[in-house]
Amino acid sequence: MSKSKMSSKQSKCKNVDVLVIGGGLSGGTLSLALAQAGFDVATVDREDMAGWTDRGFDGRASAIALSSQRVLAGVGIWDVIGAETAPMLDIRVSDGHSPLFLHYDHEELGTPGADPEPFGYMVENRSIRKALNVLVPKTKNLTYFAPNQVESLERDAEGVHAVLQDGTQIEARLVVACEGRQSPTRDAAGIGLTKWDYKQAGIVCTVEHEHPHNFCAQERFLPSGPFAILPLVGSAEKPGCRSSIVWTERADLWPIIMDLDDEDFLEELEVRFGDFLGEIEIVGPKFAYPFSLQFAHSYTAERLALVADSAHGMHPIAGQGLNMGLRDVAALAEVLVDARRAGQDIGAPQTLENYGRWRRFDNNLMLGVTDALVKLFSNDIEPIQLARDLGMAAVNQMPNLKRFFMRHAMGTVGELPRLMRKEPL
Ligand SMILES: Cc1cc2nc3c(=O)[nH]c(=O)nc-3n(C[C@H](O)[C@H](O)[C@H](O)COP(=O)(O)OP(=O)(O)OC[C@H]3O[C@@H](n4cnc5c(N)ncnc54)[C@H](O)[C@@H]3O)c2cc1C
Repeated sequence: MSKSKMSSKQSKCKNVDVLVIGGGLSGGTLSLALAQAGFDVATVDREDMAGWTDRGFDGRASAIALSSQRVLAGVGIWDVIGAETAPMLDIRVSDGHSPLFLHYDHEELGTPGADPEPFGYMVENRSIRKALNVLVPKTKNLTYFAPNQVESLERDAEGVHAVLQDGTQIEARLVVACEGRQSPTRDAAGIGLTKWDYKQAGIVCTVEHEHPHNFCAQERFLPSGPFAILPLVGSAEKPGCRSSIVWTERADLWPIIMDLDDEDFLEELEVRFGDFLGEIEIVGPKFAYPFSLQFAHSYTAERLALVADSAHGMHPIAGQGLNMGLRDVAALAEVLVDARRAGQDIGAPQTLENYGRWRRFDNNLMLGVTDALVKLFSNDIEPIQLARDLGMAAVNQMPNLKRFFMRHAMGTVGELPRLMRKEPL
């Protein structure tokens, strides 16, 4: 990151349109979208952004729906990371060792005469962070203050006033919290939060396998929860032979599994993974993420908007957390651009209400769907298991219903913001 873009003791006072707190996956994408649309943006992240190039590997890779890929492409991130992403061409869902399964093939959704598009792409989270590190210094109107933090924040009808840890003062029309699930800005604004713990965690690691995955994402429902094998691009020597694993385990078991030595861990993994891709080997460290659901009671307050995990956090059973966050990003950017075109104050209550109304319903629906899926698929009660197996097999035989679910996986249904329709802001 260039020196002029880093926080410095000289730049003590800054007047911007939008202050973004949290410059990670959603905050970084929002910052780029707004700055490219001509807003002056200041973004604060507590992490050292320059360090994202060498570290910051949290093991996570995200299934990015086609509509989210369009947002990343719209702000230039895709140009930087495209070669590091793996398309998802097939999705196979199965229940334990039942022979019944559901198989989605992207070719079933093609438009005559056009190449069928993938359901989405697998992207390592660190790739997006590295792309931000490349793009932010080149983006006019955008200043990252990182590592830095907001020490005090005042909001009133006139505007936003923030003082950062290094003494920089920032005046803005609007502040947006993109701080992830723990959002001090949300809490300080007195916005209530409902939260429950799934008493599960996702063990995340990367494996290399003997045979290529052919860009098929697999999700198996095991008694302790879903076990996902997600295709990554692989190395130059072994393309298509690398996958990201999200292995859900009960709260009483995951710490024991995480404590196993490498050999025993691999043995447990193989039991769940199977041998359909030949021999497997674990590459890199393993991580565990406890799973919970949470949602903020409001997405807005005076001159404040909440985005992505700061507004809603869901179980990754359907791989939708970041996808929903990027929908928030695209919707908020559009609402702000439209308000400015109409000569309105971008931090006015009506502007923010337009954003909140647009996103709350969609996100609450997805929270409900993911919660129901967790309850349906995280148990081995026989009649429930039989009902879900028959349900999956039935959907597999119903082309129209199947296409409906496939479009949902692509994220191309609902009231899509312009960026998700490949249109400029
Ligand atoms: C195991 C697992 C698998 C997942 N798989 C998928 C998937 O396949 N598809 C999908 O769509 N989603 C998936 N998700 C969800 C996805 O990872 C999250 O929804 C996404 O990371 C949220 O992005 P965010 O920008 O809101 O928050 P974060 O990525 O948490 O970023 C928050 C940023 O804010 C900064 N920050 C925090 N607090 C402050 C502060 N006070 N001041 C300044 N900066 C601050 C942090 O340094 C960070 O850079 C998965 C989640 C897990 C746990």
